[in-house]
Amino acid sequence: MKEIILIKCGEIALKGLNRSGFEDRLVKNCKRRLETLGEFKCWKAQSTIYIEPQSEDIDLDEAVARLQKVFGIVALTRACVAEKNWEDIAAKAPAYLADTLPYLKTFKVEAKRSDKSFPMKSPEISREMGAVLLSRFHHLKVDVNHPDIVVMVEIREKYAYIHGVQLPGAGGMPVGTSGRALLLISGGIDSPVAGYMMAKRGVDICALHFQSPPYTGERAWLKVQTLTEKLTEYCGVIDLFSAGFTEIQEEIKNKCPEELFTVIMRRFMMRVALRLAEKEDCGAIITGESLAQVASQTMPAIACTDAVSTIPVFRPLIGMDKQEIVEIAEKIGTFETSILPYEDCCTVFTPRHPRTRPTLEMIEEAEKALDIEALVDRCEINHKRFRLYPAK
Ligand code: ATP
Ligand code: MG
Repeated sequence: MKEIILIKCGEIALKGLNRSGFEDRLVKNCKRRLETLGEFKCWKAQSTIYIEPQSEDIDLDEAVARLQKVFGIVALTRACVAEKNWEDIAAKAPAYLADTLPYLKTFKVEAKRSDKSFPMKSPEISREMGAVLLSRFHHLKVDVNHPDIVVMVEIREKYAYIHGVQLPGAGGMPVGTSGRALLLISGGIDSPVAGYMMAKRGVDICALHFQSPPYTGERAWLKVQTLTEKLTEYCGVIDLFSAGFTEIQEEIKNKCPEELFTVIMRRFMMRVALRLAEKEDCGAIITGESLAQVASQTMPAIACTDAVSTIPVFRPLIGMDKQEIVEIAEKIGTFETSILPYEDCCTVFTPRHPRTRPTLEMIEEAEKALDIEALVDRCEINHKRFRLYPAK
């Protein structure tokens, strides 16, 4: 039986005049996500996106699983395609729903007829379909208020569609509709979650990781690559950059008070990130900071970090507890990788007694011992591109 996938767009329906642009982006993102699965035809009509596989052997379960991670979709449904005559519709519907209806108790039929030349009107289609299903599945009852399933029959231009169960989508806005931002990604639990959350708001993510060889090893870098790859399922293509941070960290350690190390280091991360953000056309920087989680994430410390940034710094986790962050990390599949025990550049030099209430004057005074511009100039950045579902 021929099947297609129908997608219900979420918040983008609210965007008035921009709506078409948002929908086009969503269609494009869906296409990209399915690219490696086979050929699909994708089009939109009346705030629904239609995804039609172009060959019989395409794995639709996998297609649905991938689409459930595409932001901008509130719900999706598989539907069976029938010829536009009642005999075919009445024959296909019970057969198509035979996997579902035996496990449900109540149903309701809704019909939508955009082709007005179809001889039956919507109420009649609903009534007749109800009768067909009741005669085939004797345990079923009609419940118009709280049915276990709404069986939808749609009469469209070329075909009729019979919908199955509606599945939840990832919500949010289509990636790419809110601009581009640079995620500072460590190997930890928080920053991948921060990237996921901003992608959910439609932000196209690129990422920067600071490495400090020989203090941090190849495995820490591989871990960040794995995390980035996992994020592509939600974020789409991610350009991952790595920056050599050893010289900067050693300079801070040798020339600045130990208790200020972390805040000064974060300010350098910002400076390097800003340069890259400009090159990559990013309108903001994203971090995984959460208020009071560690010494560098107090309000005064964050103020000192923000003082060097000329673009907004987004911290989507700022008001979240660790447990809430962990739950999202588990849901998006990054948690297990994040807890692998490799050194991060931040842990290597962590001071014993970091200052939790630094002032900007204090920090700027300490930084006078450093040649800031030269250090940032010498910080070398490398690039790697991560695509969705690379060929296995
Ligand atoms: P995470 O779990 O994301 O590592 P964290 O709780 O360990 O966060 P910190 O180590 O203080 O917190 O880092 C705070 C934020 O700074 C991180 O969420 C991340 O955005 C950024 N960051 C930390 N280390 C790095 C790094 N090596 N490369 C890039 N960004 C980093
Ligand atoms: Mg960390």
